This record gives sequence, structure tokens and C-alpha cells, in this order.
Amino acid sequence: MATKLDYYAVLEVSRTATGDELKKSYRRLAMKYHPDRNPGDTEAEAQFKQISEAYEVLKDDQKRAAYDRFGHDAFEGGMGGGGGFGGAGGFSDIFEQMFGDMMGGRRGGGRRAGSDLQIQIEVTLTEAFAGVTKPVEYRTRKLCEACDGTGSSDPTQGRTTCPTCHGAGKVRAQQGFFLVERPCPTCHGSGSMVKDPCKVCHGVGTTEETRTLDIPIPAGVEDGTRIRLSGEGESGGKGVPPGDLYVHIAVAQHDIFQREGANIYCRVPVRMTQAALGAEVEVPVIDGTRARVKIPAGTQSAETFRLRGKGFSVLRSAARGDMYVQVSVETPQHLTKRQRELLEEFEAGADEQDHSKANPQEAGFFAKVRDFFDGK
Ligand SMILES: [Zn+2]
Ligand SMILES: [Zn+2]
Repeated sequence: MATKLDYYAVLEVSRTATGDELKKSYRRLAMKYHPDRNPGDTEAEAQFKQISEAYEVLKDDQKRAAYDRFGHDAFEGGMGGGGGFGGAGGFSDIFEQMFGDMMGGRRGGGRRAGSDLQIQIEVTLTEAFAGVTKPVEYRTRKLCEACDGTGSSDPTQGRTTCPTCHGAGKVRAQQGFFLVERPCPTCHGSGSMVKDPCKVCHGVGTTEETRTLDIPIPAGVEDGTRIRLSGEGESGGKGVPPGDLYVHIAVAQHDIFQREGANIYCRVPVRMTQAALGAEVEVPVIDGTRARVKIPAGTQSAETFRLRGKGFSVLRSAARGDMYVQVSVETPQHLTKRQRELLEEFEAGADEQDHSKANPQEAGFFAKVRDFFDGK
């Protein structure tokens, strides 16, 4: 850590300065070095931190006494994991204290609206393929019917303009040495008030309800897609636009199809003999139909065949991706006596074959094995 400057020197006051003198000097210096006034100036920022840190200590009589006796040692080490109030923590605390409201006011100054809502619905892969309309039920807030959203027990009376903020919903106040804006404490930012609160909504202007909606989910929708239904969120009260409803779509895994973008993958087991002799196998298609795939003689396991245009639907398009059928050659189990005889006969004939042609993988592999043991 760099050598620390004397806190009194940092604040440009004498060691006998009164609390008021400290405060005055701190305000003047903080104004001068505040990051908002010196954007991008790291030196001013460092200065501002030092000033804040010094003031944090000296404004507190106990801390000031400790500092007078022990200097910076009073605040370094021995304060536990938090690092005491002399470090960055102290700075951020005082920063929050001094400027938090101002920041809050700035954030709260945007467009007012009811709250947005988020819900999730799950669709099957076939529903995502074809598109589907899903009914959903969710809790939300609507304009109170009893008071027409005015929040008043006498709807004709309506709301009256808040006397504190004169309808602005926010007030300006001297916060330390800054003029800050914050939500009006009288009307909580709404800008208006009621004399006699509505018995149903207790003056809020909105009540809870269960809403049912049909959500149209387009064909080709992807897992994780978010659909926004404008204005279907919570009512924000009379004259305030309602929030939006966000529907998150989760597409469930399928037992036989895997989707990748607009393409569909399907792993199809074929018999060893079909793979050896060649065959035509029937495969399911995501649209509920069937298709036939020609497996040529000598097909290996994991070989893939493409079915053009039999894949997934493309969002907002009539086009479709492709389907990829991956063959998985299955070795037969529990052979009959006759099958065993035939296969034994088949195996006996293997020696008479040219291995590099009949079983190129096997031949190639054992050639490499020979090289391995020969030390090549
Ligand atoms: Zn007000
Ligand atoms: Zn009401």
C-alpha cells in the first residue's frame, strides 16, 4: 500500500479544525474532485477517494481521536477481515451515503410502467416443429374495477394532485451539497393521491387476478426463445402503461430425434446382415410420416445418410432442413442353432478371402500392429 497522506492535510484543515470546518472543507474538495465533474480523470478520482476516506474518519469523534493518537495504524490491521473503515469499504460506504440517493433518483426517472412478468412453457419437439397454441394461466395485476384504478373509494372524486411534488412524482432536495431528485415521499412517485382509499385495492388502484392466455408458438421455434406479449404484464394503475409478459419456450428432448438448428438427427439400428447385404429400412420423420432409406451392401456402423427436406421447420419460412439417418450396426444375440452353423461356416470361409478387400479396416489395423511390434 502506498504511503498515506495525513488526513488533515488531505482535507486542507488544521488539526484543531471543528466538525463544521471539516464538513465545509470536505464539501468544497469533493465538489472539485467528484468523478462526475472529472470524467476519465483517474488522478481526480484518486483524490476524491482520499478526501472521502479522510472525512469518513475525521467526522467521527472516536475515529478522529484514535487517528490523532495512533495515526493510520489505528485503522490498518487488527480490524478483522473487513479491512476497517479506512480502505475501499469506507469509501464506498460514504459514497453510497452521499450519492446513493442521487443515483437512485436518476434510475427512477425513466418511463413508468407496470411490472413485466416472466413465465416458462414447455413444448414437445413435434409441437415446436409444427407450431402450437398453448394456453397459459398466470397471476398478474389488473386495474381495480371497484375504483376504476383511481384507488379512491369515490371514483368520481378521482385522484388529486400530490401537494408535495405537484404531480411530478419526484422531489428535489439538497443532499449534502448536491441538488438531488428522488421519488416523492408523500405519493411514492405516483404524483397523485386519494382522500378515501378504495376498500378493494386499498388505494393501490390494481388488484390481483389469474389471467388465461393462448400463446401462439410458431413452427420452428428454438429452445430458449423468448416471446414478448406487449401489455400483458401487470397493470401499473390508471394512466400508466401495463408491463409486458415474457414467455420463455423450453423445447423438450425427444426420444428418437435430435435437433440441430433446422436439421434432424436420428440414430437407426440395422441388423448386421442388412448392413452386409444391403437393405431398405423404414425410418420415422418428425412430421409424422415415414421415409425409406437405402442402405447399400457393406454399410459400416455410424455411416450417415441424408434425407433432403425431411428435417425441422425453419422459423417464418416454408423451408425445411434435412434429416440425417445414422446407421448403427447391431450384432445379433441369442443365435438359433441354424444361425450359429451358418455364421460358423461364414467365418470358416473368411480365411479364403482377400482381407484388404473384405475387411479393409481389420487388414489396415493389423498391418499397423505389425509395424508397432517391429518397432517402426
Ligand atoms: Zn408527490
Ligand atoms: Zn380500487
